[in-house]
Amino acid sequence: MAKIKVATTSLAGCFGCHMSFLDLDERLVTLAEVAEFDRSPITDIEHCGPCDIGLIEGGVCNSENVHVLREFRKNCKILVAVGACAINGGLPALRNPISLEACLLEAYRDGIGVENAQIPNDPELPLLLDKVHPIHEIVKIDYFLPGCPPSADVFWTFLTDLLEGREPALPYELVHYD
Ligand code: SF4
Repeated sequence: MAKIKVATTSLAGCFGCHMSFLDLDERLVTLAEVAEFDRSPITDIEHCGPCDIGLIEGGVCNSENVHVLREFRKNCKILVAVGACAINGGLPALRNPISLEACLLEAYRDGIGVENAQIPNDPELPLLLDKVHPIHEIVKIDYFLPGCPPSADVFWTFLTDLLEGREPALPYELVHYD
C-alpha cells in the first residue's frame, strides 16, 4: 500500500511546533511505517511536491511566507494550521499595532547596541508585510491544531484519526496553551 505523504514547514514561527512534533519520539517510527516525509526538517526538500497532508507552523510575515504557503495549498490535499502563530499570528503578530517603519527603525537604526546602522536592502531578502497574518487569511485551511505548541499527543491523535479514516477530534483535555 502506498504511503501517505506528509510535508511540513515553518513560516513566521519559532520552530517550537516542529520540536513538539519530534516529541512523538518512538511513535515517529510507527508513523514512518505508513507515512513518508516530503518537505520537512527531516528530508530537507526545498519545494513540497504533491502531498496528502501539509502541516504549517507560523504565521505570514513576508513575501516568501506567502509564496511557500500558496505552494503548500496547491500541493497538499489537507492543509493544517499548527499552533497559535499559524492560527492567529501568535507572538510575531505582537508587532501589528506598531508601524512597519517604526519596527525597522528600532531594530536596525535606533535600538540599543545597534552599530553601523542601516536598514537591510538586499534584493535577495523577502519583503516584509506591514502586518503578520494568520495563515487562514491567505489560503483555505482544513484543520487547526491549537496550542503553543500543540503537544505531541495532539499531533498523534490528529494524525492517527486522519490515517485511520476518521474525522479528527481532539479530546478537551488535549487542548491547552501552556
Ligand atoms: S505556536 Fe508557539 S511553539 Fe509554535 S511557532 Fe508559535 S511561538 Fe513557537
